[in-house]
Amino acid sequence: MASALFDVVILWSPTESDTEYSELQNLFKTEFPTQFRLHLFTKALDAVIHTESKTSLPTIVITKLGMTEQSSGQPLIEAIRRQDKRTFIILHSHKVCADPNLRWYFAELGVNMITEFITQVRHVLTQLLPLAQPSPKPSYSCPFCKWSSLSFPQLYTHVPLYHTNETELSIKCDICQRATRSYAVHLHEEHMDETQQMPSAVPLYAFALVVCQRKSDNRFLVVQESGSMGFWLPGGRVEVGEQLDKAAERETLEEAGVRIKITGVLKIEFSPRANMNRLRVIFFAEPADEQDCDPKTIPDYESYGAMWLTYEQTVECSTRNQLRGSEPLKWFKYITDNGTVHSLSILGKSEL
Ligand SMILES: [Zn+2]
Ligand SMILES: [Zn+2]
Repeated sequence: MASALFDVVILWSPTESDTEYSELQNLFKTEFPTQFRLHLFTKALDAVIHTESKTSLPTIVITKLGMTEQSSGQPLIEAIRRQDKRTFIILHSHKVCADPNLRWYFAELGVNMITEFITQVRHVLTQLLPLAQPSPKPSYSCPFCKWSSLSFPQLYTHVPLYHTNETELSIKCDICQRATRSYAVHLHEEHMDETQQMPSAVPLYAFALVVCQRKSDNRFLVVQESGSMGFWLPGGRVEVGEQLDKAAERETLEEAGVRIKITGVLKIEFSPRANMNRLRVIFFAEPADEQDCDPKTIPDYESYGAMWLTYEQTVECSTRNQLRGSEPLKWFKYITDNGTVHSLSILGKSEL
């Protein structure tokens, strides 16, 4: 039989109809039959005496506020916190979970986790178990409680669970030797990559596209892309330092030769990828001046030219495979069917 990894002290004086207590006991019996050595108490004093007799195993305490002074977990919590930070204390209480002032009080007292959900007790036990497994090198020690021989993933799991409310003036990081005033934030931001083979940030490429409709004849502006790529919405990549709507105006002028007035937003798309993120905003617009909106017909690096198309013409282009993709057709139909155009104000701009 495998030997236990944690001592679990449960101080809980169940009432007759306490289904949570039997749920908790069942949890240990069925899911963790060997990993935890259980000690059950109904009186606070007995539990305090037990925890003061040191065991070699790290300890988890699960307690209630209790119906009477005798069964209250508070003196147990206070006794444990007087002697060490390495005991993980779970306070199970519906009352404390419903009252911010009580929650604040017990957090300040050093309770690691305040919950009313047995499912979350189960979940935290699965997080705690790997902390007591032997760790491969290199190993680190926790600067708050001096728990040593923790692998990086163990340390990374341990710190927020055990010490999320602790404040220290300055701590020297065991991993990079730098001093930090906020150790947990430092671990998370500087060293998280060491638990995952993923970069913590990737570049964001932003694109602005334009569905521009001329009110006088309901035609839509399309760009004829060079290289026989097909007809497409005016638009392109946002330049460094540029706002999305300015990029939409600039690209439409460059590719289609038409100055536009943006009147709304049709869609905002965010696509996360492994090595980059893509943001696309599809704007709705009209010509800035209906009397002066002839499309560009001189080829240049931006495009072969541009046209004002009716919706029917766009359908025909689509059946002849002359569209670069399906989006012009999709959006022109959407506008023709009176689809919603969102207010421009949903795109906030913050000035740097
Ligand atoms: Zn620690
Ligand atoms: Zn560091």
